[in-house]
Amino acid sequence: MTNQTFLIDNLAFAARGERLEASLPLSFFPRLCELIESQHLEADANNPPGDVASPNSKLEGLVNFVLNGEKNVLGQCYLHLVLNVSLVTSCQRCLSKMPLSLALDFHYLISDADDSSLDDVEATIGDDFDLQEVSQEMDVKLLIEDEVIMALPIAPVHNNDCAAVTMQSGEKPNPFAALKGLIKS
Ligand SMILES: [Zn+2]
Repeated sequence: MTNQTFLIDNLAFAARGERLEASLPLSFFPRLCELIESQHLEADANNPPGDVASPNSKLEGLVNFVLNGEKNVLGQCYLHLVLNVSLVTSCQRCLSKMPLSLALDFHYLISDADDSSLDDVEATIGDDFDLQEVSQEMDVKLLIEDEVIMALPIAPVHNNDCAAVTMQSGEKPNPFAALKGLIKS
C-alpha cells in the first residue's frame, strides 16, 4: 500500500479533464518523513531521556491533494494541483511539538518545448505557472513530495513568543549570554 504509485499520462490526463484526488499518510513520502524526523531529532537532543520514542511512531500527518487536468481552447494542457498538508513537527525554539498546516496550490503547463525554446515559453506563461515535461508516466506522488518539501519551513517556530528551551544543569552557560548583558547596560 505504501508503495502505491500515482503515475499519469499527463497530456492525456489534461486533455480529458481528469481529476485525481487522494488523502495520503505521511509514510507515503519517505524524503518528507526524513526531513520532519530531523526536526524532531534536534528537539529530542534536549529532551530528557525516556521521552524519546522511535522516530517513526510520532510522524503524524496527512497530505490531501486534488489534481485537475485542463486543456484550453488554444490546445494548451494544464495541471492544477491543490495541496492541504497537516503534520506535526517540532518548534525549533521551545522544542515542543507543533502542528503545522500548509495550504498550497500550483499550476503547471505541460510543455514538450525543447531547451532552446523553453525560455520563450517561460516568458509567455509568467510566474503563475510552472512547466512540466510531457510524460506518459508522470509520478504525481513525487511531484507532491517535492512541492511540500520546498514549502516546508526549514526551522519552524511558534508564531507566538514561546520560551526558548532552558538549559539543563551540567550544560555550559552560553558565552554570548554575558555579552548580551553588556550590550544592554
Ligand atoms: Zn515554540
